[in-house]
Amino acid sequence: LSIASHELRTPLTPLHLKLELLAREIGDRVAPEHQERLHAHVQGMRRQVRRMGELINGMLDLSRIDSGLLPLEANQFSLAEVVREVVARHQEEAVRAGCEVSLELGSEGVGRWDRIRVEQVITNLLTNALKYGAGHPVLLRLTEDDEQVTLEVVDEGIGIEADQVPRLFQRFARAVSERNYGGLGLGLYITRRIVENHGGTVRVTSEPGRGSTFRISLPKGFLPEGRS
Ligand code: ADP
Repeated sequence: LSIASHELRTPLTPLHLKLELLAREIGDRVAPEHQERLHAHVQGMRRQVRRMGELINGMLDLSRIDSGLLPLEANQFSLAEVVREVVARHQEEAVRAGCEVSLELGSEGVGRWDRIRVEQVITNLLTNALKYGAGHPVLLRLTEDDEQVTLEVVDEGIGIEADQVPRLFQRFARAVSERNYGGLGLGLYITRRIVENHGGTVRVTSEPGRGSTFRISLPKGFLPEGRS
């Protein structure tokens, strides 16, 4: 899996560069009346390249996690700040999904975690909410007590059947048809493993047809400062 994902990732960098070159040439050489249409094609291709990159990174993470090679680099930061960043980065995707995303950040939620991995967890939960809750509002709510910070991602989408819930956090587990929703079924598995490696928990409550709430709790000082 590790070799396959490295090999699959190799052509993506030149592909991405060629697309940027193409966009520039369209701007320089193509008649103005055709530019908008061609730029839209390039934009679509950029999205697909990004998507492919994400799928491959999921496989790479899986191979790292399962071989116990997912080092964490812990530093002090505010979870609320990361939530705001991740949401800002997904604004375009939210508009495309028809979701209004709102934030209820009651506090800054400062703790010691691996920022990149925590960003990845929030990204996974938010992109799932946009995917399975398309056309409905999404809410991210942050609360904290002395020990831990809790983030809830609430959607009003398709929800999950009760008997499927226990499987969802296992690898390659999916509760939707491939025809309607693409995906490898790795996001929640990776999310759970990252959260558990931080000494935290991830839970879901859901009602089919009404929506789902994913809740992660991260203890503030579980990891020692630095790499572990
Ligand atoms: P993927 O989205 O690639 O299938 P995930 O591991 O992120 O993989 O999710 C596993 C499964 O959990 C999904 O296939 C879907 O059935 C279900 N799921 C995850 N998030 C949600 C959500 N917000 N609402 C409904 N179902 C969800």
